[in-house]
Amino acid sequence: MIRFSSPAPIGREHEYVAKAIDGRKLAGVGPFAVGCEQWLEKRLPAPRALLTGSCTSGLELCALLLDIQPGDEVVIPSFTFCTTASAFALRGATIVFADIDPSTLCMGEKQAAPLLGPRTKALVGVHYAGYGGDAPGLARLCEERGIAFVEDAAQAIGAAWQGRSLGTFGRLASISFHDTKNVTGGEAGALVINDPALVERAEILRDKGTDRARFFRGFVDKYTWQDLGSSYVPSELCAAYLLAQLEEVDRVNARRRAIALAYHDALAPLAAKTRATLPSRAYLEAANGHLFWLLLKDPEAQHRFIEHLKSRDIAAVHHYVPLHSAPAGQRFGKVRGSMAVTDGIWNRLVRLPLHMDLTDADVSRVIDASREFLEG
Ligand SMILES: *Cc1c(COP(=O)(O)O)cnc(C)c1O
Repeated sequence: MIRFSSPAPIGREHEYVAKAIDGRKLAGVGPFAVGCEQWLEKRLPAPRALLTGSCTSGLELCALLLDIQPGDEVVIPSFTFCTTASAFALRGATIVFADIDPSTLCMGEKQAAPLLGPRTKALVGVHYAGYGGDAPGLARLCEERGIAFVEDAAQAIGAAWQGRSLGTFGRLASISFHDTKNVTGGEAGALVINDPALVERAEILRDKGTDRARFFRGFVDKYTWQDLGSSYVPSELCAAYLLAQLEEVDRVNARRRAIALAYHDALAPLAAKTRATLPSRAYLEAANGHLFWLLLKDPEAQHRFIEHLKSRDIAAVHHYVPLHSAPAGQRFGKVRGSMAVTDGIWNRLVRLPLHMDLTDADVSRVIDASREFLEG
């Protein structure tokens, strides 16, 4: 069976995890977490990056840092993972769901602008597939309206738009290192803080609401409960695996992008025949190779395509059920405009396998099996 994704080791993972075990410090924040944070701060660059247990934890920290209160509205695309919304709903916010652009599957300025109102406190952009073409427009819109721009950069490690790293456009950003992402710590994430005024409080909130970071730096002689917060620090075992992966991120992204382009080039000429649509080559080149999606002509074709690939021992999958149609989405959010694009794509979308365990022969097998189907 060709897996859909795989958290494959690609560098010094075994060595670093063994070193973490031998170092007799498994709790955070230890040397491997600090190594990951310094790597991110230099690479993005950003004034501060805090390693967390997940991107979800990072988004929850964003909601706390922005003092989201009941009655505040937060605009997010409906076509995203549920925690983009739940992180803010947890603080009592009303989620206002936005539609997406049909060619990028991202919410842009055009979709977001009409939804902003007097109660809007923040806007969360999602770099779907590690594509960031909408980031400058969303950042400008938020700046003009005086609301916070947060990037859900879960899928965007190593990605940039016109030379600027995704994760540096927002006041805050959150990255995922879940084992389905380009590089992983198993379960891990990072909060990126681009506004230096939020750094000190972020360190407290991440560490159970205590000033332990100040204590370790010798600024206070005991640490105490200072603020809200929770247990958002990852284990050193996860951080050790992650550091080895981060060191190889450019090689990983280049390989993943090459596979996505190989799928594109082989399948694009056939798509019209079965009325399937593919993202453009430029879109895949600008993104970080996080995923390759295509849209079948209708939900029935989506189902048949996935079943066809399964019969050839290939795992292909659909993606998000739109949050505005999910039970919790209806409870914690609302729709204020047309959701035609989201409603029209989610049950036609299929993602093909993309990971570092794929051999060239595997890629050919996926292409041949997809071709068989798309040729009708
Ligand atoms: C993966 C993902 C998340 C959640 O990441 P975790 O690290 O598992 O919490 C959130 N948003 C998006 C868009 C994602 O792709």
